[in-house]
Amino acid sequence: MVRARDAVARVVAALAAAIATGLGGHMGLSRADERAGNEPAAAEKLSPVDDLAAKAARLIAAYPDHLDRVEGKMLVWKQGGDPMVFDDGHPPKEFDALMTNPDIKDQFHDDYPLGPVTEDPKENFDPGRFRNEAFFERMYGDCVKGEVTKRLVPVAWLPKHGGGKLSVTSVNEVNKKLEKVSDELDKLLETHKDYKEFLIPSAGVYNCRNIAGSNLKSVHAYGAAIDISTAHSDYWRWPKKDAKSRGPVWSRIPYEIVEIFERNGFIWGGKWYHFDTMHFEYRPELLPKR
Ligand SMILES: [Zn+2]
Repeated sequence: MVRARDAVARVVAALAAAIATGLGGHMGLSRADERAGNEPAAAEKLSPVDDLAAKAARLIAAYPDHLDRVEGKMLVWKQGGDPMVFDDGHPPKEFDALMTNPDIKDQFHDDYPLGPVTEDPKENFDPGRFRNEAFFERMYGDCVKGEVTKRLVPVAWLPKHGGGKLSVTSVNEVNKKLEKVSDELDKLLETHKDYKEFLIPSAGVYNCRNIAGSNLKSVHAYGAAIDISTAHSDYWRWPKKDAKSRGPVWSRIPYEIVEIFERNGFIWGGKWYHFDTMHFEYRPELLPKR
């Protein structure tokens, strides 16, 4: 009898754990978790990204001003309005479909790697490059309709080294995060004067444009991405830099610079197969929570 009671208790505990981690359909943080300041274990880890509940938890923890929960396959927003499709139930997509028609969970398709890049990424490994446009537009606004510019605020770029002014979105406090990056880089330049050429002049933040060669919005169109100096950068579309024939181009940008961005919520385009080593964008859902 004791044994049977233990077995029942174990089943009940397992069920409770399953519900808590989202198998019950509600995959956001519970109010109790928010109050206690506890994050679900899945939000702490970068892997496995193939777990739908873990993806939902990481997304919601990354954008707490906007996102409430995932219910079934739909993402529910805090400000109300129509829920958005989180998981479209589509069979695994080919690369082109991931680029042009990702659902929100596809944004986690490739696990963003931390640490210095030591080898070529696998073909089409582009962590963070699959973006659901409707998701970003709802958060940051549509620049074509003038919704982004009214949320832009000035940020001084490396003010101790004369980096000029940037226009950065205040949504998700990206301006404050970039200010912190700028402060840390200002300090880094005190001991690494030769790094200045990588950072100044910056090629800017806000630009209402599409990604080159596509009709997909660039994250610059939301005021949430920065390009550092183009002079020492590499881009897969530039002549002789196509993705198949390049070498380890990322070594031109010192990793101390990349690490400061990553620590503050920005991913680096230098980790993509379709590399863009000047480019950093605010994507905290792909980085460990701090
Ligand atoms: Zn860029």
